[in-house]
Order: sequence, then structure tokens, then C-alpha cells
Amino acid sequence: MKKEYYEVLGVSRTATKDEIKKAYRKLALQFHPDKNPDNKDAEEHFKEVNEAYEVLSNDDKRRRYDQFGHAGVGSSAASGGAGAGSAGVDLNDIFNMFTGGGRRGGSPFGGFEDAFGGGSARRGRQSPGIHGTDLKIRLKLALEEIAKGVEKTLKIKKQVTCTVCNGTGSKNGATEACATCHGTGEVRQVSKTMFGQFVNIAVCPTCGGEGRVIKERCTSCYGEGIKLGEVTVKVTVPSGVEDGNYITLRGQGNAGPRGGAAGDLIVVLEEIPHELFSRNGNDVIYTLAVSFADLVLGTKVEVPTLDGAVKLTIPPSTQPETMLRIPGQGISHLKGSGKGDQYVKVNVYVPKEVSHHDKELLKDIKKSAGLSPNAHNDKEAKTFFEKARGIFS
Ligand SMILES: [Zn+2]
Ligand SMILES: [Zn+2]
Repeated sequence: MKKEYYEVLGVSRTATKDEIKKAYRKLALQFHPDKNPDNKDAEEHFKEVNEAYEVLSNDDKRRRYDQFGHAGVGSSAASGGAGAGSAGVDLNDIFNMFTGGGRRGGSPFGGFEDAFGGGSARRGRQSPGIHGTDLKIRLKLALEEIAKGVEKTLKIKKQVTCTVCNGTGSKNGATEACATCHGTGEVRQVSKTMFGQFVNIAVCPTCGGEGRVIKERCTSCYGEGIKLGEVTVKVTVPSGVEDGNYITLRGQGNAGPRGGAAGDLIVVLEEIPHELFSRNGNDVIYTLAVSFADLVLGTKVEVPTLDGAVKLTIPPSTQPETMLRIPGQGISHLKGSGKGDQYVKVNVYVPKEVSHHDKELLKDIKKSAGLSPNAHNDKEAKTFFEKARGIFS
């Protein structure tokens, strides 16, 4: 058996609207789920209270309820008894009960705007119109630029403020009350939740919360206050950045329609693969092919770095795959001071084509027992070949 709505709220059948509001406020606060976590009874009460208030606060529904009982207003608010224009409950109002916002006309519990630190009028002044959208662009960087950091000047196409109307969108500056929200800047949206039906206040999409719309549109921007333009933007890229890092330039994105705040410009960094160097953190790696003779005898070579060529000594008997370090020729650290190093990875150069003369020379070399690993009877070579035999036999 469903409880009487008047009973739920603890008011008489002749209670005034104010008495109903007052009773509802007290009970909603008492049974609010935030105050009664994991309490099924309180949750049930809270639903009942909301449902009762939803009906009794609406003149039409209250009349039908008085006449036909529960059948007159549908089984419950949660099952969709209320149509558009329902008094409902403002979630912001409930929120406000706990934050202690002050009273304000038009809302049964006082304005939620106070709780949020800004009313619609103030909100409007801080940021009129609709916020501009963020813009994302990719910026390709050479490793040389990443190594030291770089300042880039970018040309970007974006929505800019219309200079004809100064971003107002209005031909002569005249405005009129918005027809969608009747000048309030807010629209009510009904939403259903497990606690019943709620009316949520949202910023009016037509006027963006301003409450006023332009009378005659600017012919240059068709009343938008923005149009497509091209701007140059300077962006400072610090050293040591990595592929996928991004830099956010606040307020440099698309301009907001009709004076709205601009969005952000997000510059996503992309590292162009280098034709000579690969990167390992802040170190760079260069692969150098050296002849067998130079590896054995040692030599001096010139190797490129991100900062020009330098001389490098290859010591005698350098083994293939050896990493030779050139200190401080890497990438400057992103955080703090210091620089990475350059590593030169030494490979043996094996020619693809060999002249007859060189072949004869190599045959002579082959004759030398000292240049063949088989001839070496040092421990390391021996154990290696013994192991290899063990694996393959
Ligand atoms: Zn304009
Ligand atoms: Zn409006």
C-alpha cells in the first residue's frame, strides 16, 4: 500500500506551497544519501519524499492527486508520471543544502550560484558567450632542434575574433532578450535518476548564458563574432623533449563566438627520425663502419655529431659492436642542467664487391695464422668453440 503524499511530507491536505517546500527541504536533507551512506531505509524515504514533493509542488498534479489519488498522477514519479514543466527538484538546490548557500529569489532553497561562487550574471561577465574550442596541431622537430631547444614561429589557421564587429556578432551593437530562455540565460532540463525526476539548470544554448541575443547580425561574420583567419604563434620548445610531448598555449586556440573566451592551442611534438643518428633518452647513437685493418691497427676518424664533426680515436684491436663514447655531444636534459653523450657503435666494414687485386691480398692475409680465430689457443676462444661444438653436435 502506497503512502499518502501528504503523510510522507508530514503536512496537512490544506498545506500551502511554502509549507510543502519547507517540509520537503527538511526531509530531503534528513534522508539525503550523502548523509546516510549505505542506508536502504533512508534511500527509500528519500525517494518517497522526492516523489511526494514532485506531485504536491505542482498545482495541476496536486489537484489530480487530491481528486484521484496515486492513480491520478501515475504510479510514481520515477516511472515517468511527470511531463515537461514539472516542478521537480533541482540537484543544485540539494547540493546547496550542504554547502549553506544563501537565499535567492526564484529557487525554493536559495541560489546554487552562491555555492559555486558565481551567479549567471557574474558568470556572464567573466566569460560572455560560448567558450572557443581547443586546437591541436603537430609540430615536427629535427633532433638538432630537440638537442638544444628551439623557438618556432608557426602559421596556423583558426577561428579569430571578427574585427568588423569586435567579436560581438552584432551589426550596430544592439541586443534583445533571448527567446529561448526569456532573458534568464538558463534552461531547465528534466532528467530521471534512481531518486526520481530532477530538473537540472543548464546554460542556455542559444545565448550561451548571456540572456541576450544580437538584434542584427554582423554581415562579415554572420553574427558569430568569429571567422577563419591565419595567425602566427611563437612557441618555445625546451631541449630534451620527446615524441608525443605537448605544449599547451592558454587562450591561443579558437576564439569564442561573440566574445567568448578563446580555447587553448595544444602543440603536439613530433620527432623527425634522423638519417644519421638514433636516440636513446638523452644520448644519441651513431653507427660507424670501419675496415678490418683499421679495427686491428687502430686509427683516427672524423664522425658527425649533432653539433658538427669531431675527431675520434679508434684504439688498436677494437672489437666489433664496441660503443665509443663522445661525452657531452648528446641532448640537453629537459629538466635541470646536463647533457647526454654520443655513442659511436663500431661495425666492421665488409665490402660487397672486391677487386681481383684485393682478393689476392686477402688470400695472403688468410695464410697468416695469427689473424684467424682457429689459430688462437687462448682460453676464451677455446671455451667458445668447445661450447659451440657442444650445442651443434
Ligand atoms: Zn562580425
Ligand atoms: Zn538564452
